[in-house]
Amino acid sequence: MRAIDSIYLDHNASTPLKPEVLEAMLRVLTMPGNASSIHKVGRTARRHIEAAREQVAHLTQARSRAVIVFTSGATEANNLILKGAGCRRILVSAIEHLSVLHAVESKEIIPVLKEGIVDLAALDAMLQGNDGDVLISVMAVNNETGVIQPIEEVMALALKHGALLHVDAVQAAGKIPINLQKTGVDFMTLSSHKIGGPQGVGCLIINNCAPVRPLISGGGQEKYLRAGTENLAGIVGFGVACALAERDMQQFQSLEKWRDQIETRLSDADDTLKIFGKNSPRVANTSMFALPFASAETQLIALDLAGVSVSNGSACSSGTVKESHVLKAMGAAANEISSALRVSLGWNTTEKDVETFIAQWLNMRDRIKTRLGTV
Ligand code: PMP
Repeated sequence: MRAIDSIYLDHNASTPLKPEVLEAMLRVLTMPGNASSIHKVGRTARRHIEAAREQVAHLTQARSRAVIVFTSGATEANNLILKGAGCRRILVSAIEHLSVLHAVESKEIIPVLKEGIVDLAALDAMLQGNDGDVLISVMAVNNETGVIQPIEEVMALALKHGALLHVDAVQAAGKIPINLQKTGVDFMTLSSHKIGGPQGVGCLIINNCAPVRPLISGGGQEKYLRAGTENLAGIVGFGVACALAERDMQQFQSLEKWRDQIETRLSDADDTLKIFGKNSPRVANTSMFALPFASAETQLIALDLAGVSVSNGSACSSGTVKESHVLKAMGAAANEISSALRVSLGWNTTEKDVETFIAQWLNMRDRIKTRLGTV
């Protein structure tokens, strides 16, 4: 059963809750315990939280000594590490989520190539003569284009120059394998609601036991790194979502054929269509494309009226259509940036959803062309 009467193709903004997650959350939602209490009820709550921590660790193959700090989401986790690592220099890629880009004022921007991939040569040059007190933040997968970033190569540069590496893996979890033991990445951010879990919960993984200063102090929860009574149901839901993301990873890859089908049918219908990052490695579910003669706002509204929910990139708090800093960093033309839409498929997308989206999009494109007098 669908909770919303719309074809929902905006999974990179937020995924619907998986039924197993809801079940697990409902089981603990009515439990009274505070995980810090020493009585039996409190200890039960604590056990649930520690089980969720194990599920996060398993999904990410975190080191056994890793510290996993539950937060209110990825925005808080990104702020925690960028503000709390206490590094003298902070280098962030130009295509990071705004929760990284806006976390600290003083930062240096690593450029990206026009394919949407972080410029490794530029990063190497920026790190020349580095004295070790540097934090690099590069996301694993971009939320707008779905382009996979070369994290192993970025890590090699971090090691070469004695820098620490933080990876926002919000859009990578459940989509591509993550192995913190193998890559040795120092810090990683995850968000529950991008993998079929509830909104308002996420975590920072401190993989290599580097010191971090808390943003929120108080009762000493989460190893003194995030005070406040833990969000038990949220954390339990997040843990189950991590386990399911691992289980469903193979199935996720099958979305690629529908993503490719969308791109082929739309490009066949309109040769002005520009697909961003098409020749780069991308996750299976994401496509961002521009129809240069129609504003994103016009397209979004037309599709919304037709019962299809897509996006123009990252969801912004004001609910308005905002220009993409990601496409700008990739050197896209102004008319491409202002006309870009993102489609992101997910665990409950059906073939019928894809067919309906294509039909509605073609319909919309024909109507806009007719209005412009250029059929
Ligand atoms: N990083 C990335 C790459 C994201 O896509 C998002 C969500 N759009 C965030 C961080 C912020 O996540 P949250 O909603 O959990 O704060």
